[in-house]
Amino acid sequence: MKTQVDVLKITIVYDNNAFDPRLKTAWGFSALVEYRGQILLFDTGGDGRILLENMRALKIDPARIQAVVLSHAHGDHTGGLIALLNGGDNPPVYLLPSFANTYKRQLGMMTQVSEVAPGQVIADGILTTGEIGGNIPEQALLVRTENGLVVITGCAHPGIVRIVERAKELTNDPVYLVLGGFHLGDKNKTEISAIIADFRRLGVQKVAPCHCTGERAIAMFADEYGQSFIRTGVGTLITVMQED
Ligand SMILES: [Zn+2]
Ligand SMILES: [Zn+2]
Repeated sequence: MKTQVDVLKITIVYDNNAFDPRLKTAWGFSALVEYRGQILLFDTGGDGRILLENMRALKIDPARIQAVVLSHAHGDHTGGLIALLNGGDNPPVYLLPSFANTYKRQLGMMTQVSEVAPGQVIADGILTTGEIGGNIPEQALLVRTENGLVVITGCAHPGIVRIVERAKELTNDPVYLVLGGFHLGDKNKTEISAIIADFRRLGVQKVAPCHCTGERAIAMFADEYGQSFIRTGVGTLITVMQED
């Protein structure tokens, strides 16, 4: 019997894919991660007002957020942070070493800022891939559950397959779920098929693509994964617990 605290809950609080009609849909991504009594926010969407309004509609108290992790330096992922910090709650912020110094200094005047390292533990059972390099460097958040690894990505600019490979290397865990932006909007059918084949090769059991994944890729993942595809948009709650 697993205790309640080992249940992982991920709530999409900001996304450009509509889901919960009570919430505003806007370009960007933010996910609230609750695990073992800890609450983290991964990315902050593009607009602080929308982020805070969506949280209010979902009855999420921003004061309960214990840490914020920023996937990469794009405004559709970082744009809501200042409004969150201006609200008087000052959770520590985990960002990439490559973020601009001026931005780090600006945040540093408001809260504690940490540059992540590969495999760094952010909270109990939650770690980061660390900065994955490329034209647009990025980190993904990894949650180790009884079912396997849950990989949460922002835009996946370094490549979604590369991120999943890095996650496996760092943990040696089987991959249960990959969630977030896969960044395949400019890929054709053949390219997306190859990526889906890579997901199968890597043993990814479930997928929850949203944000910048692209309509065609979302449809193809839905076809391939069937019951193991999770339709995801703003307000989606994904619960991961041990399966009997
Ligand atoms: Zn981006
Ligand atoms: Zn994005």
